[in-house]
Amino acid sequence: MTDLSHLLSLLHRVKDPEIPAISVVELGVVRGVDVDADGKAIVTITPTYTGCPAMDVMAADIKKELLEGGVPSVEVKLSLSPAWTTDWITEEGRRKLKEYGIAPPEKTADIRALKGEQPVVPCPQCGSTNTVMLSAFGSTACKALWKCNACLEPFDQFKCL
Ligand SMILES: [Zn+2]
Repeated sequence: MTDLSHLLSLLHRVKDPEIPAISVVELGVVRGVDVDADGKAIVTITPTYTGCPAMDVMAADIKKELLEGGVPSVEVKLSLSPAWTTDWITEEGRRKLKEYGIAPPEKTADIRALKGEQPVVPCPQCGSTNTVMLSAFGSTACKALWKCNACLEPFDQFKCL
Protein backbone atom coordinates (compact mmCIF):
# COMPACT_ATOMS: atom_id res chain seq x y z
CA MET A 1 0.00 0.00 0.00
CA THR A 2 1.42 3.34 -1.08
CA ASP A 3 0.53 6.08 1.35
CA LEU A 4 -0.13 9.67 0.39
CA SER A 5 2.27 11.33 2.81
CA HIS A 6 5.10 9.23 1.37
CA LEU A 7 4.07 10.27 -2.14
CA LEU A 8 3.98 13.93 -1.13
CA SER A 9 7.44 13.80 0.43
CA LEU A 10 8.76 12.24 -2.80
CA LEU A 11 7.02 14.91 -4.88
CA HIS A 12 8.66 17.61 -2.75
CA ARG A 13 12.00 16.32 -4.06
CA VAL A 14 10.99 16.98 -7.68
CA LYS A 15 12.23 20.44 -8.57
CA ASP A 16 11.16 22.80 -11.31
CA PRO A 17 13.63 22.01 -14.15
CA GLU A 18 14.09 25.74 -14.69
CA ILE A 19 14.24 26.81 -11.04
CA PRO A 20 15.94 24.09 -8.97
CA ALA A 21 15.19 26.02 -5.78
CA ILE A 22 11.48 25.26 -5.86
CA SER A 23 9.60 21.96 -5.95
CA VAL A 24 6.69 21.13 -8.23
CA VAL A 25 4.48 21.06 -5.13
CA GLU A 26 5.54 24.54 -4.02
CA LEU A 27 5.04 25.79 -7.56
CA GLY A 28 1.43 24.63 -7.34
CA VAL A 29 1.81 22.49 -10.46
CA VAL A 30 0.78 19.30 -8.64
CA ARG A 31 -3.00 19.44 -8.60
CA GLY A 32 -3.76 16.13 -6.98
CA VAL A 33 -2.29 12.84 -5.81
CA ASP A 34 -4.23 9.62 -5.65
CA VAL A 35 -3.55 5.93 -5.21
CA ASP A 36 -5.75 3.37 -6.94
CA ALA A 37 -6.64 -0.13 -5.70
CA ASP A 38 -3.54 -1.64 -7.32
CA GLY A 39 -1.21 0.79 -5.56
CA LYS A 40 -0.63 2.86 -8.67
CA ALA A 41 0.04 6.51 -7.94
CA ILE A 42 -1.91 8.96 -10.10
CA VAL A 43 -0.42 12.45 -10.06
CA THR A 44 -2.37 15.24 -11.72
CA ILE A 45 -0.38 18.24 -12.85
CA THR A 46 -1.35 21.53 -14.49
CA PRO A 47 1.12 23.37 -16.73
CA THR A 48 2.14 26.85 -15.67
CA TYR A 49 1.10 27.92 -19.10
CA THR A 50 -0.15 26.01 -22.13
CA GLY A 51 2.73 24.63 -24.13
CA CYS A 52 5.36 25.16 -21.44
CA PRO A 53 8.21 22.87 -22.59
CA ALA A 54 9.27 22.25 -18.98
CA MET A 55 6.10 20.25 -18.32
CA ASP A 56 7.37 17.15 -20.15
CA VAL A 57 10.53 17.28 -18.06
CA MET A 58 8.48 17.70 -14.87
CA ALA A 59 6.24 14.74 -15.74
CA ALA A 60 9.28 12.55 -16.43
CA ASP A 61 10.99 13.71 -13.21
CA ILE A 62 7.85 12.97 -11.17
CA LYS A 63 7.65 9.42 -12.57
CA LYS A 64 11.35 8.79 -11.96
CA GLU A 65 11.33 10.10 -8.38
CA LEU A 66 8.25 8.10 -7.40
CA LEU A 67 9.43 4.86 -9.02
CA GLU A 68 12.82 5.21 -7.34
CA GLY A 69 11.00 5.92 -4.07
CA GLY A 70 9.38 2.47 -4.21
CA VAL A 71 6.03 3.31 -5.80
CA PRO A 72 5.14 0.28 -7.97
CA SER A 73 3.63 2.25 -10.85
CA VAL A 74 3.00 5.89 -11.64
CA GLU A 75 0.70 7.72 -13.99
CA VAL A 76 1.02 11.47 -14.57
CA LYS A 77 -2.15 13.10 -15.82
CA LEU A 78 -2.30 16.53 -17.34
CA SER A 79 -5.18 18.78 -16.34
CA LEU A 80 -5.57 22.00 -18.29
CA SER A 81 -8.68 23.27 -16.58
CA PRO A 82 -8.93 25.21 -14.36
CA ALA A 83 -5.77 26.95 -15.57
CA TRP A 84 -2.80 27.36 -13.27
CA THR A 85 -2.42 30.82 -11.79
CA THR A 86 0.46 32.27 -9.85
CA ASP A 87 -1.81 32.22 -6.76
CA TRP A 88 -1.13 28.47 -6.58
CA ILE A 89 2.50 29.05 -5.61
CA THR A 90 2.76 28.34 -1.88
CA GLU A 91 4.07 30.89 0.63
CA GLU A 92 7.19 28.75 1.05
CA GLY A 93 7.56 28.64 -2.72
CA ARG A 94 7.32 32.45 -2.95
CA ARG A 95 10.04 32.85 -0.31
CA LYS A 96 12.34 30.42 -2.17
CA LEU A 97 11.78 32.17 -5.51
CA LYS A 98 12.79 35.47 -3.92
CA GLU A 99 15.91 33.93 -2.39
CA TYR A 100 16.73 32.55 -5.82
CA GLY A 101 16.51 36.09 -7.26
CA ILE A 102 13.23 35.66 -9.09
CA ALA A 103 10.44 38.08 -8.31
CA PRO A 104 7.60 36.07 -6.80
CA PRO A 105 4.41 36.85 -8.69
CA GLU A 106 2.15 39.24 -6.85
CA LYS A 107 -1.49 38.28 -6.61
CA THR A 108 -2.50 41.87 -7.32
CA ALA A 109 -0.44 41.85 -10.54
CA ASP A 110 -3.00 39.59 -12.17
CA ILE A 111 -5.85 41.91 -11.22
CA ARG A 112 -3.98 44.94 -12.53
CA ALA A 113 -3.19 43.12 -15.76
CA LEU A 114 -6.87 42.29 -16.20
CA LYS A 115 -7.69 45.97 -15.94
CA GLY A 116 -5.10 46.68 -18.63
CA GLU A 117 -2.69 48.32 -16.18
CA GLN A 118 1.01 47.52 -15.92
CA PRO A 119 1.59 45.15 -13.00
CA VAL A 120 3.85 46.40 -10.23
CA VAL A 121 6.65 43.90 -9.67
CA PRO A 122 8.97 44.66 -6.73
CA CYS A 123 12.68 43.98 -7.26
CA PRO A 124 13.71 40.72 -5.53
CA GLN A 125 17.12 42.27 -4.76
CA CYS A 126 16.21 45.56 -3.06
CA GLY A 127 12.42 45.56 -2.88
CA SER A 128 11.99 48.72 -4.94
CA THR A 129 8.81 48.98 -7.01
CA ASN A 130 10.61 51.27 -9.48
CA THR A 131 10.95 48.48 -12.03
CA VAL A 132 10.39 48.15 -15.75
CA MET A 133 9.71 45.15 -17.99
CA LEU A 134 12.45 44.80 -20.61
CA SER A 135 11.09 41.78 -22.41
CA ALA A 136 8.03 39.55 -22.13
CA PHE A 137 10.42 36.61 -22.52
CA GLY A 138 13.23 36.23 -20.00
CA SER A 139 15.71 33.37 -19.62
CA THR A 140 12.88 30.98 -20.57
CA ALA A 141 9.50 31.40 -22.23
CA CYS A 142 7.80 31.06 -18.83
CA LYS A 143 9.45 34.18 -17.40
CA ALA A 144 9.60 37.85 -18.24
CA LEU A 145 12.77 39.91 -17.97
CA TRP A 146 12.62 43.00 -15.76
CA LYS A 147 15.08 45.65 -14.68
CA CYS A 148 15.17 47.51 -11.39
CA ASN A 149 15.71 51.27 -11.71
CA ALA A 150 16.86 51.54 -8.09
CA CYS A 151 19.71 48.99 -8.03
CA LEU A 152 19.93 48.56 -11.84
CA GLU A 153 19.81 44.77 -11.51
CA PRO A 154 17.93 42.76 -14.12
CA PHE A 155 15.69 40.02 -12.79
CA ASP A 156 13.29 37.32 -13.97
CA GLN A 157 9.63 37.39 -13.10
CA PHE A 158 7.22 34.53 -13.30
CA LYS A 159 4.82 35.46 -16.03
CA CYS A 160 1.25 36.00 -14.98
CA LEU A 161 -1.38 34.44 -17.16
ZN1 LIG B 1 16.53 46.57 -7.04
